[in-house]
Amino acid sequence: MEREQAQKALQILAETYPDARPALHYRSAYELLVAVILSAQCTDERVNKVTAELFREHDTPQAMLALTQEQLEGYIFSCGLYRSKAAHILSASRDILEKFGGQVPEKFADLKSLAGVGQKTANVVSSVWFDRDAIAVDTHVFRVSNRLGLAHAHTPAKTEEQLKEVIPQRDWSKAHHWLIWHGRRVCHSQKPACGSCPLAGVCDFFAQQNKQNTAAPSPAESGAAEV
Ligand code: SF4
Repeated sequence: MEREQAQKALQILAETYPDARPALHYRSAYELLVAVILSAQCTDERVNKVTAELFREHDTPQAMLALTQEQLEGYIFSCGLYRSKAAHILSASRDILEKFGGQVPEKFADLKSLAGVGQKTANVVSSVWFDRDAIAVDTHVFRVSNRLGLAHAHTPAKTEEQLKEVIPQRDWSKAHHWLIWHGRRVCHSQKPACGSCPLAGVCDFFAQQNKQNTAAPSPAESGAAEV
């Protein structure tokens, strides 16, 4: 995608989603971290239901470590991947207490050193809580940015790299939310609503689809029999 077209796409996203913000509920860096760990392969709505219960009495690393692995699994069972998520949350909580004085660390490398915290989770916490410029590439950001043509990549890491080249740094964090909201509301994984999409005019995927539809011969032209 040309830089000018990318700027147009970003402008449309900004105008369409001026209120885009995280859907997860949290009151501290620690709650945000736990919620993002729980959100892997789970909807934000489900995570919010689970954390509403969990954080009632276990909203700090100390309070979380009062739970056994099995007890924590009981709280987060419905989020999926609950065994590994429980192990990660307990291990990360232990490290936060023992290595970082009880506070979620701000340094990116320190964040990534915590169990269950990969590039995406560290980017979300950096951006949302610590107000750093960051683009977290989740499933929506990956799909929408590659369909639009803001990126042409096969991995989240490469997508993040390419998005950072085409999006001005001041917009990185906002673009993350714009792309997520667009993915949830319009550019669905299975059936993107291209017909009502404000980005259709600047979307590589849409242009490609149109080209294919125009190029495809009609059944009569192709000799295919209608049944
Ligand atoms: S035109 Fe279609 S594929 Fe492109 S961003 Fe919109 S919904 Fe997604």
